[in-house]
Amino acid sequence: MITIATAPVKTYLSKSKIPGFDYVINPYIGCPHKCVYCYAEYMRKFTGHSEEWGEFLDVKVCEVPLRPAKLFRTRVMLSSVTDPYNPYEKQYELTRRLIKQLVVCQAQVYVLTKSALVLRDLDLFKQIPYCEVAFSFSSADDAFRQLAEPGASSVSEKTEALKILHEAGIHTAVMGAPLFPELSDWKQIIALTRPYTDRYGFDSLNMRPAYQRKVMSFIAAHYPHLLALYGDIFLQEEPTNYWSKLGEEIRDYCRAEGIPADIYFGSSRSYSGN
Ligand code: SF4
Repeated sequence: MITIATAPVKTYLSKSKIPGFDYVINPYIGCPHKCVYCYAEYMRKFTGHSEEWGEFLDVKVCEVPLRPAKLFRTRVMLSSVTDPYNPYEKQYELTRRLIKQLVVCQAQVYVLTKSALVLRDLDLFKQIPYCEVAFSFSSADDAFRQLAEPGASSVSEKTEALKILHEAGIHTAVMGAPLFPELSDWKQIIALTRPYTDRYGFDSLNMRPAYQRKVMSFIAAHYPHLLALYGDIFLQEEPTNYWSKLGEEIRDYCRAEGIPADIYFGSSRSYSGN
């Protein structure tokens, strides 16, 4: 049972620390998608919640509307530490109200989600001068998705949503992220989504100390045969060349196939283009 509350805020906007974006909007605090590797879990300590991350959701409330003069032609991303299309968005429609305001502001909108609910707002995306919807795929295998991202949409639902958005003329992207060693078949992700995707980004599984225990427990419970490999890659003091090799492999494949791709890890990071 998830705890839902409202959280008054002074503004929905945050200055972006992510390169390429001017502002970030996180309509919610918390995320019921419950990804096992969730990089946003550190947010919990700022909330005062005693519930586990994934067990609470604060719906932000702000009386001040977004200002067109401030946001005209700026690059606005939704979202960085929550999913703007979590299942409760269906009921609260907060992301939809914010997108409506961004239409008026004529901002450039970049959506990152793991939910097919994003399709609901296709009518609004069509009114934005530049809108990109990106889906994260850690795997093309829904059995893995169910274990690692239990609250998110299925692989087939995301793929179908990607197709519909692409065919409607919306810019689309696929983030192959996070890549789990031996579990994320990135070629399969490309094969599944290539006809409907304008560009790709790939990122490694980020094993910060705060998440190590959770992710290693996940591997031990579901993929025990990979525990030693994960130990070698993530727990040794000496850095391994696993990510450099994987980055090069993805870069070479994408270059050969003419697939626009950014690689955010290893020695191939920041490669972009065909
Ligand atoms: S969708 Fe993103 S914010 Fe939500 S649980 Fe997964 S990784 Fe965390």
